[in-house]
Amino acid sequence: MKSHFLQVMLAIQSGLTIIKPLIFSIKSIVKYISTRGQASSLNFEEVTLAGLARDGGLYVPESWPTFSAPEIRNMRGLSYPELVVTVLRPFIGDCIDEPTLQAMAKRAYANFSHAAIAPIKQLDTNLYFMELFQGPTLAFKDFALQFLGQLFEHFLARRGEHCTIVGATSGDTGSAAIEAVRGIKGVELFMLHPDGRVSSVQRKQMTYVEDKNIHNLAIKGHFDDCQNLVKAMFNDTGFRDEMNLSAVNSINWARIAAQVVYYFRAALSLGGPDRPINVSVPTGNFGNIFAAYVAQQMGLPIEQFIIGSNQNDILTRFFSDGNMSQKAVEASLSPSMDIQISSNFERYLFEVSGRDAALITRLMDEFKQTGSFSVDANLLDKVKRQFSAFRMDDEQTRAEIARVYQETGEIIDPHSVIGIAAARACAKDPSIPVVCMGTADPAKFADAIEPAIGRKVPYPARLEKVLNAKEHFDVLENDLNAVQAYVRKKVEQAQNA
Ligand SMILES: *Cc1c(COP(=O)(O)O)cnc(C)c1O
Repeated sequence: MKSHFLQVMLAIQSGLTIIKPLIFSIKSIVKYISTRGQASSLNFEEVTLAGLARDGGLYVPESWPTFSAPEIRNMRGLSYPELVVTVLRPFIGDCIDEPTLQAMAKRAYANFSHAAIAPIKQLDTNLYFMELFQGPTLAFKDFALQFLGQLFEHFLARRGEHCTIVGATSGDTGSAAIEAVRGIKGVELFMLHPDGRVSSVQRKQMTYVEDKNIHNLAIKGHFDDCQNLVKAMFNDTGFRDEMNLSAVNSINWARIAAQVVYYFRAALSLGGPDRPINVSVPTGNFGNIFAAYVAQQMGLPIEQFIIGSNQNDILTRFFSDGNMSQKAVEASLSPSMDIQISSNFERYLFEVSGRDAALITRLMDEFKQTGSFSVDANLLDKVKRQFSAFRMDDEQTRAEIARVYQETGEIIDPHSVIGIAAARACAKDPSIPVVCMGTADPAKFADAIEPAIGRKVPYPARLEKVLNAKEHFDVLENDLNAVQAYVRKKVEQAQNA
């Protein structure tokens, strides 16, 4: 339970530098450093393949690349894939050439079902809702993972390597990872889920996939058993090296980078860089909101960061008293935010402390040992000037779903609606538009929504198709040897195919 920073993982390595997009001048060469200050610095390709740093820290750019206001103005009117290339170029540098990066950005977002990729709706005066759920799994994680899949394919092909990704899921992350790497050369993916213990929609979103490189394993056990099997495979160094094991974790820098792009889109759509915006984000692992913070560091005028949590409120409590302390997880209507710890928060603490790696190492060690740490009043003060946090329980969530539906006719999922409520409660300056991030299609959480609005939630065509498709998965005992033998056999078959 306490090795949280490793939860979902990845591992490998290589080399790079950083350049600006075609239309901009070369400004900086970005290297990535660890928040704990001990691991060697890496380039973009290396951090993408490595995931977690060897000292247990998370990678961040050595310095933030920035865009001037005229440069940001020039981004108006770019298509989403063009914006991806422009915003990410400084993070990637010369490690991917221009035509290749353009093709990757196009492919990553080709399978979204809305032409705008991240469309924005207006909910009220100065209140906007950005739909980040038009991707293949109907949730915002597709933005990062679809692009990460492209990066893996490119880097592995260039190195002539292959890798085996193993992961455990209790629901959503499984399908997002599967959609990201299905059909990708050089990658075999094994996703473990607890047999009979994920919802049938969530299972079908994983098991309908027919691509030969995707392997769904239903383990006779609980989610914890699945997670322990994955950890045990990583800890078996012989097996890890033999299979070139890897994971798609939420702490991968490339995932954060890909999420920065839609904040640029949001601000540009509402008059940026000549008009500031506020953002409001339903938060779990702090990845999405940290991407907004990165966008601000890069020169995007974001005035206020608002986060919302459900009753698993470790973050909201921290923002009130500066004490981060773990509690048991409670099931809520917004399960993707049912967390005990926000792994990406370490990146923000590193920034707000003035990049004090020694302090971060001390706080994280303390947290690992005691389940809690505190920051001093000075630091808390800085944090509070940038962030506002709001917590909601299930009853309030249902009421907010009903209210938004009555006032606007929009059906909002139980995660996103927490961000909308947080925006209403916390926005300080009413003249600044707030963009609330819509993280999941309501159809994924129809059971929670229908009693609140008194009608059926419409299912997108894409979901209908999944629900009626044939399923592909194998049931295995909760036994490490059996799982390893299965993985080994499938990987060998793939290599001989
Ligand atoms: C993952 C997820 C979140 C939380 O996002 P973080 O980046 O972990 O803060 C919120 N809503 C949904 C639907 C999610 O899948």
